[in-house]
Amino acid sequence: MAASLDKTEIINGLPAWLTGEIASVIAQREAKGPPTGYWGEPLAAVASADDPLFARLREVVDPEHAMPSDLLPSAQSVVVYFLPFRRWLGKENSLSGEFASRGWAEAYVATNRMIADVNARLKAKLREEGFDAVETPATHNFDEVKLVSRWSHKHLGYIAGLGTFGVHHLLITRAGCCGRLGSLVTDMPIPATPRPEEEWCLAKAGFACSACVKKCVYGALRAGGFDRTACYAQCLRTDAYYSDLPLVDVCGKCGCEAPCSHGIPPRKAAGRGAGE
Ligand code: SF4
Ligand code: SF4
Repeated sequence: MAASLDKTEIINGLPAWLTGEIASVIAQREAKGPPTGYWGEPLAAVASADDPLFARLREVVDPEHAMPSDLLPSAQSVVVYFLPFRRWLGKENSLSGEFASRGWAEAYVATNRMIADVNARLKAKLREEGFDAVETPATHNFDEVKLVSRWSHKHLGYIAGLGTFGVHHLLITRAGCCGRLGSLVTDMPIPATPRPEEEWCLAKAGFACSACVKKCVYGALRAGGFDRTACYAQCLRTDAYYSDLPLVDVCGKCGCEAPCSHGIPPRKAAGRGAGE
């Protein structure tokens, strides 16, 4: 780990110092044990707090969606990162039948802790450099009635250039959609990451794919629509099923073992088609 932040190094269009710090948190936690093997190489991207797309979140997500300056009045940048799950975990979840697999549910709990650890590390590093930062919670920052987020990590990830939305309403990153997002707001001015210039979801790009729709047997994801109430009902059923675990309102099957699960889905295997 570098003693001071080299903020200039960009690898694959993403700020290397941020991904390096996050990878270091994961490695240290895994080394402390017991190792889980849940997470692959993290990704991180940055949005300017002044990006005009933030204002659009109040139109497309929720009128009460927070702005970066609501969290930190001096906000300059929003850091959004993705902790990709390893392929075995997605495969296990895909094969587990009616409910998310136990491993998937346990990974959810462990990832909430990991996101808190990553946020704490990034905040400490930014403060060492003389900047302020505000962590945001990993989850359950949403309106329980409307089921929309007041701090939507996936929409922030889109604004930051981390990926594009799939038909399954998940963010498809360079490392796929199978994983979790975290974010924090800082007053360090960090160069914004460019957004992808094209859709990464096959169907949205005009190629034939409906893998995610086929995986949702709960009536939540259908060709041409997403029923967030049906989706959350399935997540709550999973939580009830794993009554010995902390809150695990998860499912995620539409994002597992799909062409976009672990990377940008290849177009050459997908024919031109009607999408969903
Ligand atoms: S499975 Fe196919 S249609 Fe669904 S989000 Fe991924 S690429 Fe898009
Ligand atoms: S998370 Fe589960 S219930 Fe929700 S859309 Fe995906 S497969 Fe369907």
